[in-house]
Amino acid sequence: MPPKSGAGTGTWNSGRGPSKGATRVNILFVSSEVAPFAKAGGLGDVSSALPRHLHALGHDVRVVLPMYARVHAPGRTFTEVVPEIVLDLGGNRVLVSIVRTELPGTDLPVYFVRCPGLYDRPSIYGYARDEHLRFAVLSFAALAMCQHTGFAPDIAHVNDWQSALVPLLLKTKFAWDQRIFGRTRSVLTIHNLGHQGTFGAGVLGAIGLGDVAGYVHQDELRSDRFGFLLTGILHANAITAVSPTYARELMTPAHGVGLDPFLRMRADVMFGILNGIDPTEWSPETDARISHRYGVDDLEGKARCKEALLASGGLPHKKEIPVVGIVSRLVWQKGFDLCMGVLPRILRRRAVQLAVLGTGESRYEEFFHALSRAFPRQVVYRPAFSENLAHQIEAGSDMFLMPSRYEPCGLNQMYSLRYGTPPIVHATGGLVDTVRPWDGRARRGTGFVFEHFDEAGLAWAIQRALDVWGSGRGEDRARWRELQANGMRLPLSWEHRVGEYLEVYRGILA
Ligand code: ADP
Repeated sequence: MPPKSGAGTGTWNSGRGPSKGATRVNILFVSSEVAPFAKAGGLGDVSSALPRHLHALGHDVRVVLPMYARVHAPGRTFTEVVPEIVLDLGGNRVLVSIVRTELPGTDLPVYFVRCPGLYDRPSIYGYARDEHLRFAVLSFAALAMCQHTGFAPDIAHVNDWQSALVPLLLKTKFAWDQRIFGRTRSVLTIHNLGHQGTFGAGVLGAIGLGDVAGYVHQDELRSDRFGFLLTGILHANAITAVSPTYARELMTPAHGVGLDPFLRMRADVMFGILNGIDPTEWSPETDARISHRYGVDDLEGKARCKEALLASGGLPHKKEIPVVGIVSRLVWQKGFDLCMGVLPRILRRRAVQLAVLGTGESRYEEFFHALSRAFPRQVVYRPAFSENLAHQIEAGSDMFLMPSRYEPCGLNQMYSLRYGTPPIVHATGGLVDTVRPWDGRARRGTGFVFEHFDEAGLAWAIQRALDVWGSGRGEDRARWRELQANGMRLPLSWEHRVGEYLEVYRGILA
């Protein structure tokens, strides 16, 4: 059964939040990452941008995350709100305190769960033997914070496996507290089903759920498994995935990573809502990280950015030769295996250049190093993480390559669309929902999309992009401008998405 339309249709309809103060929703937002404080990937961006936009519409949002050893908060002051909470987790009595600050540029309260014994680690995710306890404590502490501060949430919005015990706790351990949780409904957002927080059934006692084992999946327990994400899927009042297509894919054996039968069971409360992009960071009209600014009606600045990009990469510049950009983690998920066969052939045969930024698995890094040595006038590769260069590649390239094997939502293709850099993508997840294939006759579409994840598919899509680019002059250039403009005009920012979340909230509060 497909996800319900209505909230998660993936169309470009604009958000329809309430006018300020109208029907204010109290929202508890729990996440293991919140930018800029703690971020390992897209989850951190979403957990910052979505609460900020909900707050701007007048809703009362409280964000909760762990106080890791390294929290990026220059110049911030933290106020102690609850000096001591004793969490009774069956075998473990865990002592935490709650400190508070605000999300930069707002007065939105962000609560940190302090528990040095669990969170003082070199990185956000420790892959440690007590990972189950670290994030069980996050769920317990978030709800305890509500009790101690008297915040009665209408919605408890939790994210990925690390906060996915909240829906179960609301039905069990915290259900007695009707004053605070009497009307609380829960929403679980799945950002990446690849991480499920699955442990041996023995952890139940250690995380204080021994006496509510009847509420967790019994077959799983009998197979000596307990899954945080699965438990969230079974108990949340609504589930969202970060794009409509990913929401549908998750319910299939091909993409469900073993959880598809459970997600199909909950199809009636499953929604797909695209992530948005942050216009203060990603707008070519105002971007301070690029050499020249530009907009859809005047792309001269983009041509200058291309010159600057090639100059900084040490490649010769010729206006008519298209530059293909890549900015990515170089990992299996992102589909670079296909590039190994396809890119050398295309570079040999066609006039095209490549600017690549990214680090990751050594086989991909070595491939791009080798490619830049084999085609020194066509390929530049930087094995780095650089915000500045990421922006410069988005602005200075003519096309953007993102052949992901699977992609829950994807941000880079959206940045490319905004920057007039038509993306070449595999038809999966959020890439399907954001990139429409160019149709030369109807003059519609925003990029190039290949269906079959194989070398022939990728080669076809790149060749097609190069063919539409054509000579890069005259009529060909005019056609390319239309393609660019179609993407640049799409409403991709968070303000267009936040209304869809509010519709989900309202649906379960009704
Ligand atoms: P994922 O979260 O799976 O890595 P997304 O496309 O959703 O993929 O988001 C990736 C984010 O990380 C984007 O903001 C992208 O610009 C950024 N990014 C990835 N690699 C680099 C890099 N080497 N340097 C700078 N930014 C990068």
